[in-house]
Amino acid sequence: MTPDEDHHLASDLARQTGELLLELRNRVLDQDDSERRAYDGYDYWGGGVTGSLRWEGDQAAHEFLMKELSRLRPDDAVLSEEGRDDRSRLNADRVWIVDPLDGSNDYPNPNSSEWAVHVALVVDGEPVAGAVSVPGQNQVYSTLMSPTTRPTARDKPLILSGRSAVRAARIVAAEIGADVATCGSAGVKAMAVVSGVADLYVHGGWMYEWDSCAPEVVARAAGLDVSNLAGERIEYNKSYPEIAGFMVSRPEFTEAAIEALGS
Ligand SMILES: [Mg+2]
Repeated sequence: MTPDEDHHLASDLARQTGELLLELRNRVLDQDDSERRAYDGYDYWGGGVTGSLRWEGDQAAHEFLMKELSRLRPDDAVLSEEGRDDRSRLNADRVWIVDPLDGSNDYPNPNSSEWAVHVALVVDGEPVAGAVSVPGQNQVYSTLMSPTTRPTARDKPLILSGRSAVRAARIVAAEIGADVATCGSAGVKAMAVVSGVADLYVHGGWMYEWDSCAPEVVARAAGLDVSNLAGERIEYNKSYPEIAGFMVSRPEFTEAAIEALGS
């Protein structure tokens, strides 16, 4: 298998899964107009159709990815947020780490684009190919892209953080004179740095490998720095797949950010 084919496969699978999720959401919401009308506020957390749509989205996306990966890469292992981890991946050289739907809470809301599909390939603990699709923005970011080094047009740097665990982002912001904004989905935040909408993504808490793996490999391909909050490289396909802290940054901010977090 050539690496080039893996880059294309990751990109195709992330795009196709995103399309499937958009179709599913539109189909369900079209059947229930009252549910669609309820989304006039950002913080709508309804049950009913909305609650089941979150679950259905997770399941449909997971099943599609598992089916396609077992068909197209039958010898590879898979670690999915929605799958049962039988640990067979620990003996595999090639492991796909996928989050079929990152940001499931935002997914049922037709006014939110803060959800993503993560597909990454790890070889011997190292992410080597991957893609993040952001279907609500009609974008697929992948390791097929070449590095972008456009200078930022902002007067002040912008740091993105999750809605919880904002403290680390505020520490970095104080050091480099940045603004902090929050939004959902690790993939969406990391890709906002890739696209130049933001300058850093700082996550102070724990997360799982499927939250960060595809965003990491895509951000690296785009020329960005990626590490934990101590500035160390993250190891993937660990027996317990958690990571403590995650940062994606434009290279000019990395050193100051890690120094601020360490002090
Ligand atoms: Mg998920």
